[in-house]
Amino acid sequence: MNKQDTSKSSFKSEIAGTVSGFDPQTKTWIPVLSTKKSTELPHLDGQLFIDPALLTAFADDVGHIIHRHPAAVLKPGSINDIIHMVQFARQHRLKIGARGQGHTTFGQSQVAAGIVVDMSTLNAPPLISSDRVEVGAGVTWKTLLLATLAHNLMPPVLTGYLGLSVGGTLSVGGIGGSGYRFGAQVDNVLELQVVTGAGQLEICSPSQNPDLFEAALAGLGQCALIVRATLRLVPAETHTRLCLLFYADLPTMLHDERLLIADGRFDHVVGYVLPGPDGQWVFFIEAARYFSPPTAPSNARLLEGLSFVHGAEQLTDLPFFDFANRVEAEIEALKANGRFTLPHPWFDMFVPDSQIDEYALNVFATLTPDDLGPDFPILFFPLKSQKFKQPFLCVPDEEIFFLFDILRSAPDDPVVVDRMLTSNRELFERARQLGSKHYTISAITLSKQDWKRHFQPVWGKLVIAKHRFDPDNVLTPGPGIF
Ligand SMILES: Cc1cc2nc3c(=O)[nH]c(=O)nc-3n(C[C@H](O)[C@H](O)[C@H](O)COP(=O)(O)OP(=O)(O)OC[C@H]3O[C@@H](n4cnc5c(N)ncnc54)[C@H](O)[C@@H]3O)c2cc1C
Repeated sequence: MNKQDTSKSSFKSEIAGTVSGFDPQTKTWIPVLSTKKSTELPHLDGQLFIDPALLTAFADDVGHIIHRHPAAVLKPGSINDIIHMVQFARQHRLKIGARGQGHTTFGQSQVAAGIVVDMSTLNAPPLISSDRVEVGAGVTWKTLLLATLAHNLMPPVLTGYLGLSVGGTLSVGGIGGSGYRFGAQVDNVLELQVVTGAGQLEICSPSQNPDLFEAALAGLGQCALIVRATLRLVPAETHTRLCLLFYADLPTMLHDERLLIADGRFDHVVGYVLPGPDGQWVFFIEAARYFSPPTAPSNARLLEGLSFVHGAEQLTDLPFFDFANRVEAEIEALKANGRFTLPHPWFDMFVPDSQIDEYALNVFATLTPDDLGPDFPILFFPLKSQKFKQPFLCVPDEEIFFLFDILRSAPDDPVVVDRMLTSNRELFERARQLGSKHYTISAITLSKQDWKRHFQPVWGKLVIAKHRFDPDNVLTPGPGIF
């Protein structure tokens, strides 16, 4: 077969995987090449796909634990496509949900027998002005950061990995090492454009349509799909002094994390725990101070009064973007060696400061390196609740709290995955009794009752918003909240 024939045949199979209509009687899609009379599909600037390989890809996420097959995947060519498909889903009682980069770990972005909107095609270049950026929801934080740094600006909070979509992290929260100073990414949003479950395009902000604005931020796509966001920017520095400070034990590390967020000498503070070469746990703080030469921070001032193991500290200066993008190389390595497709039953919990030492020490009393796996760390982000202002990002009712993540990777063995999920549930219940809230990216088996309890005291507010903005409950079934 010559080159021209090959491309013709792949064009034909791509067309065969797309849809020209819908049969409302049987609730089935009519493929483009079918001779069956098709009806009812709205005009689309993009395409709707039913190709089995694509549906299988969208029945997965980074957790690789839950697999729910959608009936179709929309690759929108415009915001209008999303409006039309939400209206269509509503008319035909089909579920519909957005997928950013699919980096949640327990089926949150999946839609069984419904429509997944692949937001990655909503990726028009960011529009940047002196203190803000307007961006499509499908753009990744990496693309956004590269664009803003060209103007010496940056979003105040960056997630550890930048390959996540703006709409995806705004739908869950978005936690970073500067969170103690600026809250979550959802606390730094000026305006949103959303498509509600009623199929309406709405603009919302703290002053315009504030109930919808609140419901969209960390709202897990329950009331609306975010299609564009206007985000706050702050001045960026060109360099980072990265300090890795090692600790003899967990309480000393947590003590120094508290000290660092009290005086704010670093721009970024995260506690790490990794298995050491002899199976013991290694504790260290990743602390970063941003600067632009010729000015540079004083090491004596940065390290003053801290209780790390002196002599073991590692200090490096690197360009700011290289620091911000530090996790990408690790993810690419995991993709290259095939380990990124292993199951990831992640456990992520916001734990009150008064409880974290005892709770975490209890966890470490039985946790082994095998319970974590070799690919990702355990994390302790120190955070301040006064900076967390969005009601649906539920955090403990205490001045300081920690995001405690056990980023597990499991072998491809259902028995081990089940054991980790059972452990996640036990750890969740123990933490919940202590006033903790789970971070909704986690792989924790939850009932509707658990969700109701999670959203207290704002559950009533969420129910009202759901009825108002998604009256037929078509949006985002993945988390299983409604
Ligand atoms: C390697 C790695 C590193 C990570 N690091 C961090 C970190 O440092 N900090 C942190 O907070 N989190 C982190 N996460 C978790 C991450 O923030 C969440 O998984 C986030 O949801 C990922 O964005 P996504 O684009 O993949 O969203 P998806 O997983 O695709 O979607 C998440 C949820 O939001 C919904 N959704 C997606 N887009 C939209 C939209 N536009 N409108 C409405 N609803 C939408 C989906 O339906 C789903 O319910 C990390 C995850 C991984 C795998």
